[in-house]
Amino acid sequence: MTVEQTDILISGGGIAGLIATIAFGREGLNVLCVDPAPPVTDEQTEGADLRTTAFLQPARDLLDEIGLWPRLEDEATPLQVMRIADLGGSSAIRDFDAADISDRPFAWNLPNWLTRREALALIEEMENTEFRSGVGTADILTRESEARIRLTDGTQVRARLLIGADGKGSPVREALGIGLRKTSYPQKALSFAVTHPKPHGNVSTEIHRSGGPFTLVPLPNRDGQSCSAIVWMETDDEADRLLALDETAFEQEATERSNSYFGPLTLVSKPTGWPMTNQIARSFIGERTALIAEAAHAVPPIGAQGLNMSLADIAMLRDLIREAPDKLGTQAMLAGYDRARRLETRLRVAGIDMLNRVSMADTAPIKAARSLGMRALHDIAPIRRGLMRLGLGS
Ligand SMILES: Cc1cc2nc3c(=O)[nH]c(=O)nc-3n(C[C@H](O)[C@H](O)[C@H](O)COP(=O)(O)OP(=O)(O)OC[C@H]3O[C@@H](n4cnc5c(N)ncnc54)[C@H](O)[C@@H]3O)c2cc1C
Repeated sequence: MTVEQTDILISGGGIAGLIATIAFGREGLNVLCVDPAPPVTDEQTEGADLRTTAFLQPARDLLDEIGLWPRLEDEATPLQVMRIADLGGSSAIRDFDAADISDRPFAWNLPNWLTRREALALIEEMENTEFRSGVGTADILTRESEARIRLTDGTQVRARLLIGADGKGSPVREALGIGLRKTSYPQKALSFAVTHPKPHGNVSTEIHRSGGPFTLVPLPNRDGQSCSAIVWMETDDEADRLLALDETAFEQEATERSNSYFGPLTLVSKPTGWPMTNQIARSFIGERTALIAEAAHAVPPIGAQGLNMSLADIAMLRDLIREAPDKLGTQAMLAGYDRARRLETRLRVAGIDMLNRVSMADTAPIKAARSLGMRALHDIAPIRRGLMRLGLGS
């Protein structure tokens, strides 16, 4: 049996696990990241994650600090304005302009497959970080002094800190017996990219009509045409019906749903459907273990919060490690992480749950209240600026 020693073992090489590997590696620690699934780093390859992530200002700052941003910035589309168009009852369109609170855009949008490709390339270049694909976490035994992890290939790894970044169904969370507070919505988010004749002007546009929100997030031009990533939330039945349509029929429905806001939409990626849950782990820590990202919390894609909250987990852990490197993985360090991140996350998860319920509502009184509420929140400048700051997590 092979026995290995490392400072940190990260279970899960999704975007969060990869970014965590770089962040902790930059602190001079030896980091091993394992994932049973082979990484897909090419847009055309089957299984590529074609979703995009809008990295909010604090997330971009973290990516910059760890040296990943310079590899991404040329491909990132800045989001300067968030437009909410409520076309469900009385028509109301309001712009939230980043210039109101900052001299920088709100966020920068990047395809997930590309972020993954660049993160892996950087991990490869660094001397004290390793990404091992094809193996996962099998068993965990923790002691006060270390975590002992058996990988699926039989290797034993001894780590000062184990990080569970292994997604919504986290095997690390399960192995530690940490419970979940979870709501499954009878909804799916449809995710796809389109080109359209009217330019997006770096405005992220969220359209409310019937059904759930339909959000167009700017991407770089493609073949000389304006291009956007779309997240379209619908009830399960409606989402399944849409996913079964042929390309032309789907394009027609998407164009209709967008109120032809940018003209006819042409698909440039296959639509994928993502089940919607809102969940938070009852604890973000165990002995010698921390949960981050979707292993700790998952929310519907509203307000670009999901991965951004995950990067805040990583930044918090990184800061705690920096303050007291000799306390890596100790109860004192982990308790600080749990206290700070779980409270903040609980509030966001509850807020997103409420927004999701309101945005999916199809009854006339709620639609009218939603439209009125949106106008009031926007038109009172201090409230508008406060909300924008809250959205950014700052
Ligand atoms: C449609 C949509 C749009 C979104 N848009 C945004 C956005 O604009 N902004 C934003 O911030 N967020 C957004 N999100 C959320 C974001 O995509 C997720 O938070 C993120 O992709 C999840 O990353 P993760 O690394 O936590 O989990 P995952 O990507 O699920 O990674 C978990 C990894 O763990 C691995 N694993 C499983 N079992 C084991 C094991 N035994 N051992 C080791 N590894 C294991 C899996 O193979 C997987 O690779 C969106 C989500 C959706 C659905």
